[in-house]
Amino acid sequence: MGKGSKKILEELEERVKTLVRLRPSHKEILEFYGAILREQLKARGKICRDMTLEKPRTSSQEDEEGPLLRGRKIPIDFELAKKLFRCLCRVAKGGTPILKEGIEKIERAARDGRIDIDRFLEEMALSESRYLEEASSSIGLSRDILTFLGRASIQPFLIEAAATLTEGADMKEWSESRCPVCGAPPLLSELAETEGRRMLICSICGHRCKGVRMACPFCHTQDPKAHRYLFVEGDESVRIDVCEVCKKYIKTIDSRKMSQRIFPLLEDMGTLHLDMLAQGEGYQRGSTPFLDIS
Ligand SMILES: [Zn+2]
Ligand SMILES: [Zn+2]
Repeated sequence: MGKGSKKILEELEERVKTLVRLRPSHKEILEFYGAILREQLKARGKICRDMTLEKPRTSSQEDEEGPLLRGRKIPIDFELAKKLFRCLCRVAKGGTPILKEGIEKIERAARDGRIDIDRFLEEMALSESRYLEEASSSIGLSRDILTFLGRASIQPFLIEAAATLTEGADMKEWSESRCPVCGAPPLLSELAETEGRRMLICSICGHRCKGVRMACPFCHTQDPKAHRYLFVEGDESVRIDVCEVCKKYIKTIDSRKMSQRIFPLLEDMGTLHLDMLAQGEGYQRGSTPFLDIS
């Protein structure tokens, strides 16, 4: 594992500790997602950096104007994805009793050949769900657990592909409600000192870029009267931005108030009290996390 990967793992441990200290009621969920992220980061350290992402030979105008990843085949090392899948199973067994029981079912089914993990991961990489349906019903399990594990095993490759495509590229701002790289909705927004503008962070590929000034990331209204913030007194490093037009919300992390690296999924899962606050006032999340088993 490279120096960079080791450093980021240390930063993750520090961030988990800080968030647990700040919000002890979220300890279990923070430690759970911290452990999932740790395995994903370790796997990312092993992904070949110089991946080639050729454009499809026949690309339509829709492909040209759409997200960068559309129509491109992402090179996935399925042996590595399978290893990550097994590591994530081991880690997730430390979660809730339902999760533990579900994962034991998956492991038994994989051992006696009732499910084919290779085929499952290959289909997850193509965002297909036919085999997912088949596999979950054959082992008598809700599809949530398999979806979570499959997505989490493929995500590091998507993140690396997004990083490869955007490196040095002149990226346009996030003008629609989808990520300019992969097309997913934003998970969080961030106020960062250096950029001086609200940044949006993708829920799937992690791409981070400027959003349109004063615009709702979901319905694009720019009317200042439509925007309102909710936060908990004494914890102003994270707030909820609600939109009165579409009634959706997004969390905004103020990283100018933090000295540590932020990990979007962790920041999101560590602030579920804010979701309750916003939902209690009749607003809905603008996007659900790509990895959510809570
Ligand atoms: Zn994306
Ligand atoms: Zn809106």
